This record gives sequence, C-alpha cells and structure tokens, in this order.
Amino acid sequence: MKHTPFALPLMLFAPLALAHPGEHPGGMLNAIAHLLSEPDHLAMALIAVVVGVAGARFFRRRTAARILAKRR
Ligand SMILES: [Zn+2]
Repeated sequence: MKHTPFALPLMLFAPLALAHPGEHPGGMLNAIAHLLSEPDHLAMALIAVVVGVAGARFFRRRTAARILAKRR
C-alpha cells in the first residue's frame, strides 16, 4: 500500500481533533480507553477510515489509469 503513510496519521488524529470540545482528563491509558469506548470518537474514526479507504482507491485507480495511458 503506497499511500498508507498518508492515511494512517489522518486516521489516528482525526478523532482527537473533531470528536468533541474539551480535554481528556487522566493518563494515557484513560485517554485510549475513552477514545475506544465513546461513540463520538468511534464515529469520527469510522469517517476517517472511510475517507482514507476512498482516497486510497481513488489514487490507486488514477495511477492504474496513467499506467494504461502510457502503454498506448
Ligand atoms: Zn473524548
């Protein structure tokens, strides 16, 4: 997967940036448990995954089309 390095940070940080206002009290483990248990974070993570997959498919198809165009 050529574009995974670009999609992975988006998937990891989009929920932190967009889920809800306010901070996450407690330590790192509390924050991770919160991120994996709250529906708002999971919804944002799902959206990020869908956007990442759609972007990867788009770039893969565009690259394949360019390769086919060069062969002609
Ligand atoms: Zn939260």
